[in-house]
Amino acid sequence: MAKDYYEELGVGRGATADEIKKAYRKLARKYHPDVNPGDKTAEDRFKKISEAYGVLSNEEKRKQYDSVGHDAFVSGGQGYDFSGANFDDIRNTFGGGFDFDDIFGDLFGGGRRSAGRNRVMRGDDLYYNVRIPFYDVIHGNEYELNINHTVTCSVCGGKGGEKKACPTCGGTGQSSRNKGGFFVGSVCTSCGGSGQVTVKQCGTCHGKGHVESKERIKVRIPKGVDKNSKIRVPGKGNAGVNGGASGDLYIVTNVQDHPVYRREGDNLYVDVEMDMFEAALGAKIEAPTPYGAVTLNIPAGTQSGQKFRLKNKGVPMLKGSGTGDLYLVINVKIPSVAYEADREALREMMQKYATSAREDLLKKGKI
Ligand SMILES: [Zn+2]
Ligand SMILES: [Zn+2]
Repeated sequence: MAKDYYEELGVGRGATADEIKKAYRKLARKYHPDVNPGDKTAEDRFKKISEAYGVLSNEEKRKQYDSVGHDAFVSGGQGYDFSGANFDDIRNTFGGGFDFDDIFGDLFGGGRRSAGRNRVMRGDDLYYNVRIPFYDVIHGNEYELNINHTVTCSVCGGKGGEKKACPTCGGTGQSSRNKGGFFVGSVCTSCGGSGQVTVKQCGTCHGKGHVESKERIKVRIPKGVDKNSKIRVPGKGNAGVNGGASGDLYIVTNVQDHPVYRREGDNLYVDVEMDMFEAALGAKIEAPTPYGAVTLNIPAGTQSGQKFRLKNKGVPMLKGSGTGDLYLVINVKIPSVAYEADREALREMMQKYATSAREDLLKKGKI
């Protein structure tokens, strides 16, 4: 079981942005690969805490993380696979709202900054929780949702304004200075490393290149969704940066329980009551299925707890084309017998039909 991001950083779920940053800074300084060269354990730990920080330091991502939970968040594609990643990969992944310089600026004297502000980055994925009535699991349905996401600013085309090559660094994003005989490369402070400066900021997006947008979208919820199924709506996440593709939108389904059907994977279970006379003599009963009631013959001598399978009357499979089964679980009800004459009749029957194997059980139960 993976640690959740709060545990990873050793902060409470109610931690403020500042507390999260402090916790990360402290851990990152301890586990940073440059501080622990060749130490694989430290490196792994660094990747993990960076992943946690990447999510918890971003207000939007943190909200989504809190609402869908760790496992859904990570398996939904929002989690980052850091196996084999290096420091720069991590930096790139979080380039958007993740200010590494803020965290590591004093640790590395700014020397690790790279000309990265122009990097093409894919937009963030978004997650929406949707409650699905049980009936829609069986038949599928189309939903209309109002979503809030960012889209590329149409006025500046995502550039944030008019730009030109930075006159200080000549567009390289780097400046070098002489430090005790060594030339130390560092980021150009005029352009922040992008190599470009804004001549005129876009008034619509205020230089961000994207704007908030509400959109009404239609989503087909397929048959067979379960709790925490994720339906991907491509390109409906947040806008990318510097021409990067938009992220995706994921509908995370929360299926309502049904009062009668219990679901286990693609199979359904329903408790069916029979009285002991029906169970003893056999009976033709009507049983519910999500596809309409069916009539079936329950054989004489049916026991409580016995299951009868109705093939393909369960939940349609989300992957593949099959359908699960429905199991009727028999629950035999025993009447309380009020009249002495009836009790006498039952005693007589007991003489003939008693089936208890308790003596056997007592024998076998000896240690
Ligand atoms: Zn704009
Ligand atoms: Zn510059």
